[in-house]
Formats: sequence, structure tokens, C-alpha cells
Amino acid sequence: MNRHSRLPSTVGVSARAALLTTALVVAAAPCQDAARRPDRGPPRIHSVCDISQEFTFYMDGRFHTQYLQGVARDARNWGSLQRLDLSNVNLLVLTGGDPHIPYTDAAIAHLDEYVRGGGALLLMADGSDPMPPGTVVAEYFGARLTTTRATRPLRGGPRDGAEPLGDGDITLRRGNVLAIADGWQALVMDAADRPLLASRRVGTGTVLIGSRGLFGERPDAKDPINATWVTPLLVEAATRKEIDPRRHHESTWVEHERQLGPLTLEFQDGTAPFAERIAGEYTAVRPHLVAITGVEPAPGMIKRLLILPTGGGGFSSGERIAIGAFWGDYPEHRYPMVELIGHEAGHSWVLPYPEPLWNEPIATWLGIQVGRRLGMPEAQQTLDRQIRLGRRHDPDYTKVDPLADDAPRDLVWGKSFFVFEELERRFAQDPAEPTAMQRYFRTKRALLAPGRGRYSMDDCVGVWSRAVGTDLFPWFRSLAFDVDASRTDLRPD
Ligand SMILES: [Zn+2]
Repeated sequence: MNRHSRLPSTVGVSARAALLTTALVVAAAPCQDAARRPDRGPPRIHSVCDISQEFTFYMDGRFHTQYLQGVARDARNWGSLQRLDLSNVNLLVLTGGDPHIPYTDAAIAHLDEYVRGGGALLLMADGSDPMPPGTVVAEYFGARLTTTRATRPLRGGPRDGAEPLGDGDITLRRGNVLAIADGWQALVMDAADRPLLASRRVGTGTVLIGSRGLFGERPDAKDPINATWVTPLLVEAATRKEIDPRRHHESTWVEHERQLGPLTLEFQDGTAPFAERIAGEYTAVRPHLVAITGVEPAPGMIKRLLILPTGGGGFSSGERIAIGAFWGDYPEHRYPMVELIGHEAGHSWVLPYPEPLWNEPIATWLGIQVGRRLGMPEAQQTLDRQIRLGRRHDPDYTKVDPLADDAPRDLVWGKSFFVFEELERRFAQDPAEPTAMQRYFRTKRALLAPGRGRYSMDDCVGVWSRAVGTDLFPWFRSLAFDVDASRTDLRPD
């Protein structure tokens, strides 16, 4: 499975980080925590991390890893918030949300009922200009997000049975203070005594609102900041509501499906206004991918297109591609969306044998080719820019082995693009005949038998050699690739 994002810290269309993880598999895995703590019984906390107002890879499981592992069983909410079954949930985690997706009145009424019934609600958000959608959640419960930056030193309020937190106990990446009404309790304050994290009892439940900067953000979950005091705080608030630990709460999937020919379009209320248009882009992109590769997607692939509430990227499991509805400021700008859809769908052309080394670059290259065929000038610019960036590390592309562990990312991407372009140029023939890339895809499909265990770079160069009828091992070695025909059963003819 491939996942691509430029949230929160990467930049540029070609800078998507690819993490080999399994969102949908994790979402479906039952009882992970119960299995880990056989002597203590099932967890007393059922948490839900919401990704319906804004999808991020972080909220898709990493928040649980950082703050709730071992104490809570987690599920994700992909569907509309107001439809979420919260009857057996005692901790709901929300973010400020994507600017395109409002928190609806119905969702807020649902949150109110949940909290009054004892549930704990954590909203992680900072004020900004314009305000994020989550501001209406804060205001409903009597707090306000502001755009005023917090200043150090920070300190905590009184704690039962523990010393108050000092500045050294509190990590803050960056954050804006809250304005709170009577009835709220400040839990973390800045140098001017303005709250950064506060709680309020509502009915028999608890609302917690805190700056997003007090919590982790990395998709690899390697920044569990403040976990030593955040986890006990969440446990205390959540366990005010009894849940039935024997009755599993499951992740909630998007609630709408529409059949578009062989494709199932998946969306929820918030993404509904954008779904058809993005499906239309996929419909426009698909025949170009067939033309570029000379083959249909691998059997069983691209059955589903999920619309994600984010501008941050997408992912692919082969069978399902997920596309951020607002990527690259779509629909204001069209090329980044065409490239993203070409990329994510492109993965379904290479499976079940992902490309070694350039699995991500070849997917983006396919997206670029679609853009070229649609006459979009950004496509050539994207290609040229990446090849130029790679040459900073290897000016004539003959010195640095892209397979080396320390090969720079720009070198790997630039050299990959250079190789594809060179192969297309060197083996260009009569326009009526297949292109080099078409011959490669067709040869790969024909040569790789089902059940094959691996597809190495040696195998890949072997397939390329057979596709174009030339032993390409010497050429790849001249480009500093460590490849060897003796290490593959797919030797040149
Ligand atoms: Zn990818």
C-alpha cells in the first residue's frame, strides 16, 4: 500500500512522503489492545479519532499510538460525524478540520448529546485567519479560539496528587491561546496566564480544548510530546462514562456509494459536493494511462475511488484509490489533481509487482505523462524541475548509484525520470508501433508469473531488456546502477 501526503511538513507536488503502512487494514483490525493486555482485561476506553472533517495520516491511528496505546481501543470515523454511533464510545478526538468541510449544526447537536451523556471530547485546534471550522465547536461549549500566539514560560494548573506542570514538562511546537468563559478550567497557561489547554464539565461529560501544537503530528508517530500527562488526563476524562468493553466499537466507513460503470465512488456528506467532479477527472485520466502503458490496470485493481476531506494528498491500496478533494488547490488548479490521480491510479498498473527503486517516481511519471497528453504546461515543468534537482547530486547521471542506501531523494527521482525519458527517446519508433514504456508494461505482464516472490532491480532491467530487444545492463551500469544480469532469471534474450 502506498500513501502520499504533503501534510504536515513536506512541500511541493513531487515531495510526497510514501509510507508503507496499511490504513484500511489497521482500521479493521479488532481488539489490538485487548490482545496486548491479557492480564488486565479489555480496555475501559473506547476512543474514536475523527477523520471525516479532515483526513490526515496522523489522525488515522497515530494519535492512538502516541497517547492511548494500551489503555484504549481505537476506531476511526470516516463517515459523517452526525451519523456516528457514540453509544459505546467515551473518548472522541476532533481537529480544527479542513476549511472546505463545516462542522454542521447536526454534528454539534450530536456532540452535545454525547458529552451530556458522559463522554469526553477532545478538540485539538488553533485559531487562524480565517478561523478553522472547529471554532464553532469551541464556541458552542463556551470557549473561543484566538490568533494570539502563546508565550513561554508555560505552566500547568493544580493537579490532584501531583505537582503542577512546569515549563520544562510542556512541549509546544507552536500554538495560540484560548479565550474561555466561566465554568472552564485552564489546565495549561502561557506566560500571560492565557489558557492553551482547558476543560469544562458539560452534563456528566467533559470537553477538552487545546492547541494542536501540544500534541504530536508526525505520520510515523515519532513525536509523542506531552504523553506523560496527556494520557492520564484523557483516561480520567474518558472513564467518567462506562462503556461495555465486550461490545466492540468498529471504525465507521463513509456512508455513500455511487456506481459509475465499473467504479464505486465512496464519499460522505461533507465530501459529497466534490465527489462527482473528482470522479470525472479520474474518468478523463484513465484512458490516458491505458494509452501510456499499453495495458489495462492489473486484474482486480481500481474498483473503488474514495474522496478524502483534505488537500494533503492521497493513497492507494491498488483495489481502492483515495484522493484528497482539495489537492493542489483544486478546482482552481487542475494539473496537480490530474497528476495525483494519475499517480495513485498508476500504482494499480504496476501491481502485483511494484517497481523496485522507482515505485513512487514511476507513478508520478505516469501522472506527468497524462498531464502532457492533456496539453498542460505544468507537466513538462514538473518533469524538467525534478531532473534538474537530481543533477545537483550527479550532473551527468553517471556517478551516484540510486540504489545506495544514502542516495538523496532528488537523485533517485531525477534519475528515474531521466531513465524513463531516455528509454522512450532511444527506443522510439514508428508512431504506429508500441512505445518503449508500452513494450515494458506488456512484457512485464507476460513474463512475471503469478506467485512470483520478488521483483528486484536486476529483474526490472531484465524485463526492460527483453521489452526493447537490447541488453540494457551495460547502459544501466553506465548510469551507476548496481545491477547484474547474473542475479535474475529474467536475463536479456
Ligand atoms: Zn504513490
